[in-house]
Amino acid sequence: TPSSTTSTTTTTAPPITPTPVKAPPQDTDTMSRINVVIIGHVDAGKSTLMGHLLYQSGAIDDKLIHKYKKESQQIGKSSFHYAWVMDQNEEERQRGITMDVGVKHFDTTNKHVTILDAPGHRDFIPKMITGAVQADMAILVIGSCTGEFESGFKEGGQTREHLILVRSLGVSNILVAINKMDQVEWSQERFQDIRTQLNQFMKQIGLLNEKNANVHYVPVSGLQGINLRSRNGPPEWYQGPCLCDVIDEFQVDRDDSELTKPIRMSISDVYKSMSTGMTVSGKVEAGTLSVGQPVHVAPIKATCNVKSITRNGNNQVQVAYNGDNIEVGLTSSAFELESTLMSGQILCDIDRPIPCTNRFLGRIITFDLDIPITNGSSVQLHMQHMDVPAVVSKMVCTMNRQLEVIKKKPRVLVKNSCAIVEITIIDHPICIELYNEFKSFGRFMLRMGNKTAAAGVVTELKRIKKNKK
Ligand code: GDP
Repeated sequence: TPSSTTSTTTTTAPPITPTPVKAPPQDTDTMSRINVVIIGHVDAGKSTLMGHLLYQSGAIDDKLIHKYKKESQQIGKSSFHYAWVMDQNEEERQRGITMDVGVKHFDTTNKHVTILDAPGHRDFIPKMITGAVQADMAILVIGSCTGEFESGFKEGGQTREHLILVRSLGVSNILVAINKMDQVEWSQERFQDIRTQLNQFMKQIGLLNEKNANVHYVPVSGLQGINLRSRNGPPEWYQGPCLCDVIDEFQVDRDDSELTKPIRMSISDVYKSMSTGMTVSGKVEAGTLSVGQPVHVAPIKATCNVKSITRNGNNQVQVAYNGDNIEVGLTSSAFELESTLMSGQILCDIDRPIPCTNRFLGRIITFDLDIPITNGSSVQLHMQHMDVPAVVSKMVCTMNRQLEVIKKKPRVLVKNSCAIVEITIIDHPICIELYNEFKSFGRFMLRMGNKTAAAGVVTELKRIKKNKK
């Protein structure tokens, strides 16, 4: 039969079908996803532990580890080769510390795990804030050697500060890896002692829930790779799960109400990729994002198109859901992406973009303050991936723990107080939401000098105030 393309007898025009409205494709990947932030005092062994875990999980190939081993021996830091998996840039290697939040992926039996390695040094706490903001769970690494746990745990130590921070940022599930157990001969007594002290502190700051079900303790050796990926190695007295099994069994509560909200994704990084072109990375905080969808970039009010979505490092998907850590390839015919996109901006729904203002009311809890907060105090506001100068422009009231007003217009706020204050951003309006509506865009931290002064939630958005300057 002659091919239909040459036939001239066809008279019926093909019916005009309306473009179908596409339902978002189903998520075919049944593994659940979890974002984990690594916290703990400097030198507790965070990078070594995570590097070794990635290696055991097959996320890094042997050649790379051998290369690192050789290089680290050459500069006389031979035990650092696992840590280098996490510490990628040259400066960090030389100094042997982690400066930025490194992102890595591996799988457990039932989960895709994204780990965010947060730096332990005091100067890097702002970075750690951005890491913890995205986390479902925190792994607190403790160096169990004599004196080491104690120095991180004393007043002002990073173990304490990090726990207070993750608590304030809404991360309430903690896995405590009691590390370097090889150095204390796997002493059960030492393990129990550290556990008792930490439990007490976590109860104090309201991190431990009533059933103690949100905190798990696992004895490990990051360097020797014991009790990380499998249970072989720990002594008789420990009959609990290995580190990976705790992560695997952990229930991630995805807030389904966030799924139906308009898309919000905070940009943590912008770069040019060979395969996906201009690309932004970050976590979908609310809603769903699909390939082909136009998105609004706040606060610059630009529109781009989603060209590609990559999940878990190399998995191309059509749709990303609330909670996913993704990389998004973007295109725009209207503006030059490379010079316009920046970390801290928010990808959002074109019809329902995120509000922007430079003035809002927040309910704050102050930490250990060196100097009290007063009207006019200069602060650094941290929210999502943003970090901007601001002032406390009004002191509305102080409150007790039941949130009843104790005093209106207080003159000073000392440590451990709860108060409502007005905050004015100095330079530009920022993207911000009420805590009750979008939790992750309504939570913030205030830093003064080099210290975290307060954590708070946004209770009221005010109209933009024109700068007098
Ligand atoms: P970070 O600052 O918390 O990332 O710590 P690193 O991973 O850089 O480790 C600090 C030091 O502790 C390095 O010298 C590591 O080799 C060492 N270390 C880390 N984990 C262990 C462990 O399980 N056992 C022993 N003996 N040493 C460890």
